[in-house]
Amino acid sequence: MQLDPSTQALTRRGLMLVLSSPSGAGKTTLSRALLKNNEDLAMSVSATTRPPRPGEEDGKDYFFMEPVDFNLMINRDELLEYAKVFGNYYGTPRAPVEAALEAGKDVLFDIDWQGTQQLAQKMGEDLVSIFILPPSTAVLEKRLKTRAQDSDEVVAQRMSKAAEEISHWREYDYVVINDDVDRCLNEVQAIMTAERVRCIRRTGLIDFVSQLREGY
Ligand code: 5GP
Repeated sequence: MQLDPSTQALTRRGLMLVLSSPSGAGKTTLSRALLKNNEDLAMSVSATTRPPRPGEEDGKDYFFMEPVDFNLMINRDELLEYAKVFGNYYGTPRAPVEAALEAGKDVLFDIDWQGTQQLAQKMGEDLVSIFILPPSTAVLEKRLKTRAQDSDEVVAQRMSKAAEEISHWREYDYVVINDDVDRCLNEVQAIMTAERVRCIRRTGLIDFVSQLREGY
């Protein structure tokens, strides 16, 4: 017999899935596929002081802000974390994340190692962090160049930052090498599937198990 999806036994707290990597390691492709395959998963939209790239939409890719407004969010404690990356500020708005977790929905984050450290301190076991490594430096450089959204100068800056970012891999719960998108996706999906059934998130099980023990 299958459990009715509305049953108390399946009620759980959502999790926060962080994907970090140097730019160009394939995170965006992975995130899109995860969002498509998991209806309970939504992307956290960050606030940033970086100007939009061609094709980026305010409210969808980022909340693009003036530094003064970003500062206001910090002062009002409206960000769960924030960091300066490549000269611009990036941060995670708090309210949508807290609402999603309470409602049993998972949230996906594309944030750097600095933000991940802050979230790990603040959010504890809600957080599941995965570092994505590129298969080689050459592949990383090629991906950054073919993306063609950034100038040569920005590509060079991101390459020099990559080594530093990669040095933080040990601070993550899991590490996945993105040599093949499908294999990498399977690994990330397996991590998420396992993390969803951890006892700590199964808020509905207390009542369900007492009913089981009482024999109905
Ligand atoms: P990009 O400018 O390429 O969109 O992002 C640059 C870097 O900023 C990426 O490494 C990305 O993970 C990071 N980033 C994006 N949003 C946030 C955020 O809200 N917080 C932190 N700490 N990093 C972010």
